[in-house]
Amino acid sequence: MGAHPPNRFIRQHKAAFGLVLGLACMGFAWLGTVSNSTPVLEEQVNPPVALSPPAEPVPAALPETVAFGVKRLPASTLSQGQSVVVTVTAPDNKVPASLTLGKRSARFFKQDTPHTWQAVVGLSVDEATGPTALAVTQGDGSVLHRETVTLTKTSFGRQNINVSSKTGGLQPIPGELEAIGQLKTTLTPVRYWSMPFESPTPDCQNSPFGTRRYHNGTYTGDYHKGVDLRSPAGRPIKAIAGGKVQIATLKYRLHGGTVGLDHGQGFTSIYIHMSKVLVKPGDLVKKGQVIGHVGSSGFATGPHLHWGLYANGVPVNPNQLIAYHRC
Ligand SMILES: [Zn+2]
Repeated sequence: MGAHPPNRFIRQHKAAFGLVLGLACMGFAWLGTVSNSTPVLEEQVNPPVALSPPAEPVPAALPETVAFGVKRLPASTLSQGQSVVVTVTAPDNKVPASLTLGKRSARFFKQDTPHTWQAVVGLSVDEATGPTALAVTQGDGSVLHRETVTLTKTSFGRQNINVSSKTGGLQPIPGELEAIGQLKTTLTPVRYWSMPFESPTPDCQNSPFGTRRYHNGTYTGDYHKGVDLRSPAGRPIKAIAGGKVQIATLKYRLHGGTVGLDHGQGFTSIYIHMSKVLVKPGDLVKKGQVIGHVGSSGFATGPHLHWGLYANGVPVNPNQLIAYHRC
């Protein structure tokens, strides 16, 4: 079963950090597991789509021979709930500084590959759709590249969770929400991540990203901001990509045992409800490294792994980058 912070928690969170907490899926969507007491609202199954790895490194060349170029992943139409990686090749006299995509903006970071810059931006579940302006600008505001991309709507399912009065009354400990809010918006210049990302457990998904959440049949007004994997208690949890440990604690009352990773340059991930935490803040972890064990601590109705991916502060659909099968 999926666990999810109560609506009150989400509102506090929003108020505290002003975060845009919209979540999203990609061009596929299906209904999550619906509790047996609740009517099925709709069902739609599309296969998950995995992104190909980032563009091949651009060969080193003399500055005057470097052609300006912009590559985007996904390269096709964009949709609500996606993370978007924009890679720019630029000669020495041009320095990409910021990316704007509709109302979103993100910072470009220099890559190890010569003349290459990259920015990561996230599109929320309720991102405005239609023709959307994409621009690459330099620090002085001059525009290096401008195009119009189409952003399409994604259909997200709904899911009901039967919440007991005991679970529903859980309150975060002081600082819990603040630390998690900080994790989501962390933006560090080092890139620890590389694609493809790896699933933290090998298990099927029983609650997808982006579903509208109902508690005991009442709409909470919010979305599922990650995915739930039907993982048994004690299952080792692996880092989806290289990163630096920012949160590692068993003390959180609402999220339970939690690890938060900063993957650098705009990607962060969180793993909650853990029974055991095997890393500490400041540790550098490699992709696939075990960071803890699956549990049912915090706001959980049973053992499972909830994990979430954030792109430039926006919750995005892990299924875009890791293909999951529905349980
Ligand atoms: Zn969840």
